[in-house]
Amino acid sequence: RRFVFAFNEGDKDQRELLGGKGAGLAEMTNLGLPVPPGFTVSTEACRYYLSQGELPPSLAAEIDAHLKRLEAERGKRLGAAEDPMLVSVRSGAKFSMPGMMETVLDIGLNDASVVGLAKATGSERFAWDSYRRLIQMFGSTVLGIDAARFGAVLDDAERANGAAGDLDLDTDALRGVVKAYKGIVRDTTGRDFPQEPREQLDMAVRAVFRSWNTERARIYRRQERIPHDLGTAVNVMAMVYGNLGPDSGTGVAFTRDPATGAPGVYGDYLSEAQGEDVVAGIRSPVPLEDLEQLDPASFTELRRIMAMLEGHYRDLCDIEFTIERGKLWMLQTRVGKRTAAAAFRMAIQFLDDGLIDVGEALARVTGDQLAQLMFPQFDPGFEAKPIATGVPASPGAAVGTAVFDSATAAQTGGKVILVRRETSPDDLPGIIAAEGILTSRGGKTSHAAVVARGMGKTCVVGADDLEIDTDQRRLTTADGVVVREGDTISIDGTSGCVYAGTIDVVPSPVVEYFEGRLDVDEHRRDPVVQAVSRMMIYADEHRRLGVHANADTADDAKRARRFGADGIGLCRTEHMFLGERRHHVEALILAETAAERDKVLAELLPMQLGDFVGIFTEMDGLPVTIRLIDPPLHEFLPDLTELSVKVALAEARGEVDEGDVRLLRAVKRLHEQNPMLGLRGVRLGLVVPGLVAMQVRAIAEAAAARIRAGDDPRPEIMVPLIGGTEEFELMREEIERVLHDVAEATGIEVRAKIGTMIELPRAALTAGRISRHAEFFSFGTNDLTQTTWGFSRDDVEGSFFPAYLEKGIFVTSPFESLDEEGVGRLVSIAVEEGRAARENLLIGVCGEHGGDPSSVHFFDRIGLDYVSCSPFRVPIARLEAGRAAV
Ligand code: ADP
Ligand code: MG
Ligand code: MG
Repeated sequence: RRFVFAFNEGDKDQRELLGGKGAGLAEMTNLGLPVPPGFTVSTEACRYYLSQGELPPSLAAEIDAHLKRLEAERGKRLGAAEDPMLVSVRSGAKFSMPGMMETVLDIGLNDASVVGLAKATGSERFAWDSYRRLIQMFGSTVLGIDAARFGAVLDDAERANGAAGDLDLDTDALRGVVKAYKGIVRDTTGRDFPQEPREQLDMAVRAVFRSWNTERARIYRRQERIPHDLGTAVNVMAMVYGNLGPDSGTGVAFTRDPATGAPGVYGDYLSEAQGEDVVAGIRSPVPLEDLEQLDPASFTELRRIMAMLEGHYRDLCDIEFTIERGKLWMLQTRVGKRTAAAAFRMAIQFLDDGLIDVGEALARVTGDQLAQLMFPQFDPGFEAKPIATGVPASPGAAVGTAVFDSATAAQTGGKVILVRRETSPDDLPGIIAAEGILTSRGGKTSHAAVVARGMGKTCVVGADDLEIDTDQRRLTTADGVVVREGDTISIDGTSGCVYAGTIDVVPSPVVEYFEGRLDVDEHRRDPVVQAVSRMMIYADEHRRLGVHANADTADDAKRARRFGADGIGLCRTEHMFLGERRHHVEALILAETAAERDKVLAELLPMQLGDFVGIFTEMDGLPVTIRLIDPPLHEFLPDLTELSVKVALAEARGEVDEGDVRLLRAVKRLHEQNPMLGLRGVRLGLVVPGLVAMQVRAIAEAAAARIRAGDDPRPEIMVPLIGGTEEFELMREEIERVLHDVAEATGIEVRAKIGTMIELPRAALTAGRISRHAEFFSFGTNDLTQTTWGFSRDDVEGSFFPAYLEKGIFVTSPFESLDEEGVGRLVSIAVEEGRAARENLLIGVCGEHGGDPSSVHFFDRIGLDYVSCSPFRVPIARLEAGRAAV
């Protein structure tokens, strides 16, 4: 098997094998762009190395052969004493993991070749600068030496030479730095810095492979849901030098603004610098536009290439480039990460430009991105004056207490804003924990900006008026305002403004649009709202799945309808028993005679009836699936322990309250060890006489009233938690009897579908028998997940789930995204066998999964008729249903 591929042997679709970086370099090479030559060691070699603990035996010979070709092409030899070729060794996995893994530049330098490089380029300073970079990078990434030790030496040298930064160090100073660096290597590793170029190369390749499994890379993958078994590729590439004098430099750029999606050229450029300097925030880069003045020829060439790449990839590209003495080199390209707003806007732009079709446009936005756009924003009417302004790197409104290091941010919990001079990959846990990120250095392409955008977190970078003092745990503004750790600040990732204190937030314009609260002008003015509204139209045109809402009140029903629901898929009637109606339920439970019970039920009837009238009115003409009472009755009673204590105390005082004593008896009688597996759902309906009859009567009378008013109510009556068909048939008889009685009494026949939830494995496995009697199924995937796995949804989060996620037993909680393999199999069986027995069986899902993007795709695939989710998730499900269909 081959493990090594020259850049001209691959293409952009081989990200799996070559990694994203390798595939991009191959594609650019094939397009004839100026890419330094090189080759890619495949992810397969990485997987081999990680599983076997050694490189594939054939790899050394393959690398030898490719290195020869590279040397022939450059007319130089790796690390030769005269005019040496240097290479970079770069990591690059299928999915970009910014800064998570390692890259080593300037491989091939040693005590002899540094002299050769100086002679060949005519710049001693450059050669020694490159050598110190190599030892620094190699030392920290390959040899595992704490990077701070090298940083301290450099700082000392700058201080000793009165230098303001690395640029001011002259050749002698840099020689001194190299000597000190070599000392560090010898002291910490017990051996000299390896002088043999090929050994440097091999060690670097292994280090890149190993970096796949560093703690921070694992944390990042868990957060981004990237599988742990992909491995990384390694790219070996001839060096070009951005640190070769003032007509050299390096930069990063986007073909459009990745924060807003606005067209134009966005990026950062840094003269006299090598690679990492731009993102690391060592020196502040200048905006890319300035390159037009600095080097007009390269700027024009760069813009031409960027336009070409965008047209070729038909998408936003982000690129890395280096200019060596006026010659432009392309070092990386990939489809760029973007914010949610930018994703929607750009999909519409590319669609309108004819570069992509509607299906592709839908594929480029996600329900998660839409969810982000529905978060609240700062109230535009507020009067506060910002204490500082930075670069808006990732939009949103974040309010929280300022925290000045990542460990504290991760421990504090609650809402925090991570404030740093700049962030590095080590800050990842803090970034994950924070509501927002604020830095004083770096641009739109800095580490903080890239990571925050990827995670959809609010981020402001480069607020350079801020003096951030990590040791003292405070920041100071240009006006002398001081914010200490624990003080609240607000940051606006859309404007870049930073405020002291709390700024009120308002609903997002996208939600205002869904709510129908924007007028035509407002709508037109907001490009994001426009893009979203068009995308929703496309999604609705294409989707096969219906989208219903879970709604228990007339208000919820109204919102659901505004948000585009095709009906109500789950109306939970027990919510109608809460609040001030609770004591009626209590009375029902305490009733000792049939007469007492009937009296309470008669009191409850008009209340339920009123609720249903309200809901039917809002949902006129659309189906409303009403679930009969489901939860265990003890949920309506006081807590056993509390009540026992109360009664005991009262007794001790000699003030016995007969009511409480009676209540306590009932609570004890109903107490269950496992209430979720106890007297609830259909079981309740079957053993508490009159309860279901009352509910069905309320539904039927409400529907009759709406019919009389000229409406078209469409109730569907749903029986929860059945394990088999016998329970359902008994319920069905009672429901039909009541419907019949109401029809007799009112003279109006209400036609209601009668169906059941499928939320127990046994029901799923006997679905063929059940569907002979049921007109519809609705999967209650929360209970089905809990009973299939056998773990309690109410307890797992604080218990063993964190460990399970950590161990990779699942990547996502099965309560969030449907476990397709297990729970999904039960769902598939029930769909198949249910439909085999009743062809037109209507099938939906009403668990939380109905609004989960990846689960929606699964439900579409197995042929469900609709999903049902909370009103706010209805647009998200509509969008995902559209995406699933294209
Ligand atoms: P990352 O994935 O963290 O961006 P890269 O592998 O892209 O790491 O490399 C880090 C930096 O070094 C980038 O700015 C890149 O452009 C630069 N670089 C990589 N290889 C070379 C090379 N052969 N010549 C000059 N600069 C390089
Ligand atoms: Mg890069
Ligand atoms: Mg349930």
